Amino acid sequence: MTTAIQPQPGILDIALYQGGTAKIAGRDDAIKLSSNENPFGAGDLARQAYMRAGHELHRYPTTDHAALRAAIASRFGLDAGRIICGAGSDEVITFLCQAYAGPGDEVVYSQHGFLMYRISALAAGATPVVAPERDRTTDIDAILAACTDRTRLVFIANPNNPTGTMVPVSELERLADNLPAQALLVLDGAYAEYAEGYDGGAALADQRQNVVMTRTFSKLFGLGGLRVGWGYGPQHVIDVLSRVRGPFNLSTTQQDVAEAALSDDAHIARSLAENARMRAWLAERLNAIGVATDPSHANFVLARFRDAAQAEACNAALLADGLIVRKVDSYGLPECLRITIGDEAACRRVLYTITQFM
Ligand code: PMP
Repeated sequence: MTTAIQPQPGILDIALYQGGTAKIAGRDDAIKLSSNENPFGAGDLARQAYMRAGHELHRYPTTDHAALRAAIASRFGLDAGRIICGAGSDEVITFLCQAYAGPGDEVVYSQHGFLMYRISALAAGATPVVAPERDRTTDIDAILAACTDRTRLVFIANPNNPTGTMVPVSELERLADNLPAQALLVLDGAYAEYAEGYDGGAALADQRQNVVMTRTFSKLFGLGGLRVGWGYGPQHVIDVLSRVRGPFNLSTTQQDVAEAALSDDAHIARSLAENARMRAWLAERLNAIGVATDPSHANFVLARFRDAAQAEACNAALLADGLIVRKVDSYGLPECLRITIGDEAACRRVLYTITQFM
């Protein structure tokens, strides 16, 4: 049915989000390895804070997130005044596009970049511009070549989802130094904690006037269902983003539970150690049976099959065994499956099924 009422230009170019499979009907033993969640769940301190939460449901939450920002600043050695919190880092990405990109502006990201960059750019009325990758790795020269005098935002996820690959900090510095003057570089550090020795772009966001870092509680901290993320950058950017942020974008529960998660050193250490151990274990064994992987710096591996048909057949075999992984054809990688690093039992089940399949 046609109607005279039309959305803003660009909105109808956004594909409806198709969430991956979350459950398999009739299978209670299914394991979800499709959303890069922490296999150990939330830590004890976060769970306890969640149990305590909710006593004053009629009260609006604090609008300045002061306690949460102070806790983030202390954990990561940052300036609390230059942190902005959102309902997941998704919301911070949305703020960036709303505040900095409009009709006629361009938003640049890498070929297999995270899907929210395109959604938020189009929703803001801006034009998404995709830079080609080299061997499934963000190519800084290609990003620079894609920039024009209309570029306002450049998004780089490091490590990248869904490839797990990383750009060295020296390359990020070179990018920041050579961007057009009107463009802001956003370093998306959703998986930064898993990349050994990487600060998520914190130092760059600290030192440069044109770099912002985004981070999340959804991965290492095991709080994907809570929806809390944050951004850090120069004061002038945080002040602008604060204008488009709704005053009550985070509930009291979101703020309290995220704050508690930050101090759960035991949960953080265990999650990191097990991820590193099982990521190396799974990648090595997949390679040994003829399934290629790129070196992953995140909490998943991208398994590369002979072609799209083989990846699809392997996905079907995994589903039949109650294992839910992520097809990444929407990212232009139909020959690959993205597998979240689960606990040891989950990784063994994945390897067993793929070994039988091959
Ligand atoms: N950036 C990247 C690269 C991601 O993979 C994700 C989650 N899949 C996000 C940002 C957003 O995460 P959240 O909104 O849960 O913080």
